[in-house]
Amino acid sequence: PVVTRFAPSPTGFLHIGGARTALFNWLYARHTGGKMLLRIEDTDRQRSTDEATAAILDGLAWLGLNCDGEPVSQFERADRHRAVAEELVAKGEAYYCYSSQEELEAMREKARAEGRPPRYDGTWRDRDPAEAPEGVKPVIRIKTPREGETVVEDQVQGTVRFPNKDLDDFIILRSDGSPTYMHAVVVDDHDMGVTHIIRGDDHLTNAARQTVIYRAMGWEVPVMAHIPLIHGPDGAKLSKRHGALGVEAYREMGYLPSALRNYLARLGWSHGDDEIMSDEDMIRWFDIVDVNKGAARFDFQKLEALNGVHMRQMDDAKLLDVLVGTLPYLDGGKALLDALDETRKNQLLQALPGLKERAKTLVELVDNAAFLFAKRPLSIDEKAAQLLDENARQLLAEILPVLQNVGDWTLANIEAAVRVFAEQTERKLGKVAQPLRAALVGRTTSPGIFDVLSVLGREESLARIRDQAA
Ligand code: GLU
Repeated sequence: PVVTRFAPSPTGFLHIGGARTALFNWLYARHTGGKMLLRIEDTDRQRSTDEATAAILDGLAWLGLNCDGEPVSQFERADRHRAVAEELVAKGEAYYCYSSQEELEAMREKARAEGRPPRYDGTWRDRDPAEAPEGVKPVIRIKTPREGETVVEDQVQGTVRFPNKDLDDFIILRSDGSPTYMHAVVVDDHDMGVTHIIRGDDHLTNAARQTVIYRAMGWEVPVMAHIPLIHGPDGAKLSKRHGALGVEAYREMGYLPSALRNYLARLGWSHGDDEIMSDEDMIRWFDIVDVNKGAARFDFQKLEALNGVHMRQMDDAKLLDVLVGTLPYLDGGKALLDALDETRKNQLLQALPGLKERAKTLVELVDNAAFLFAKRPLSIDEKAAQLLDENARQLLAEILPVLQNVGDWTLANIEAAVRVFAEQTERKLGKVAQPLRAALVGRTTSPGIFDVLSVLGREESLARIRDQAA
């Protein structure tokens, strides 16, 4: 069975690119009926923080990318990393290296002078350990084959060849006994039973070095898939100046997790011309070999449009759930959440079909729903105030008794009454709706006017109209 993993370093937020890597691992695991594991690569004690780990877990949970089993802490496995490094020495596949800082600097100097990349010269590879200097704590280096090449058969990049002379005898265990990143990843992936490594293509060179370690241990090399990084709309690597990098910012901007999943999946992967996909669609169709080699460009407008579609397609009760869960993260959302009693929640649910037609994000939707929560007298924006001239106030005064006479306050009854009023006073419906909207919402745009009247209820509607009537 397939085992994938996501292995973030907890040094900041969950990066949007990392989220896509996690998504591809998740999709592939779900597609194959396998597992997706989570490993927190917290070996670098200087840069790793608990807050960052919490932010990553929170981001994954929000995005709905559930992992199998408990997260593994890489740091907690340090003993095992050391044991494997020592085993490699015992097998003759690695060696203790006592070269001093000065000697290493001299090697780098020499390489610079000869115009080649700095590499460890292999001094202690052949030297008798009995000659080790007193009191020097050695590092452990792997014996990289001196001839030939290391080949990475990558599911996305194809066959990638690395001349072994470029890989050199890199360090797997530092002199303080801590593993290097290169080594820890291999030991962990092996021990966790990872069968497929899906990660950013910035790790492709590491894949060659890691292959050297797998071979030295006689372990099977997992299937590799190095996916292209995400670029900005201008083609440069995605950075702050393009927009938000942390996943939590997308929650604050009011995107639905399902829309972001759909959008991120389409960054570098496609299925025919399908743009709008449910999780079921993606899980059914996703295959790692179909991921493109070229960098994908992040298109914020496209994400927004896609989000609008997902909101419209979502069942209203579900959308309300997502909205309520998102409110604490939206600007001013906490106050709104406090105001959201059962009555208001029902009003909001009733208004959702109209609201979601006019919003691309939850932020816009909440903004358009503000009229539901507004207190009388309503604050009227500039455009609406302009609209409410003498004639308009006169009209409101005329329509008040008509609305008062509506029997059951249902959408159909309200609509019928307003239509009859428009006909009898020889006005176009729009000319009646405009002042009503201004009085009821305080703006010149809103969901359909009959929806607004019906959702607000008789008392509140009449009171708001009375406030503005001549
Ligand atoms: N911890 C590495 C990173 O965050 C990923 C390592 C891997 O996927 O092998 O870039």
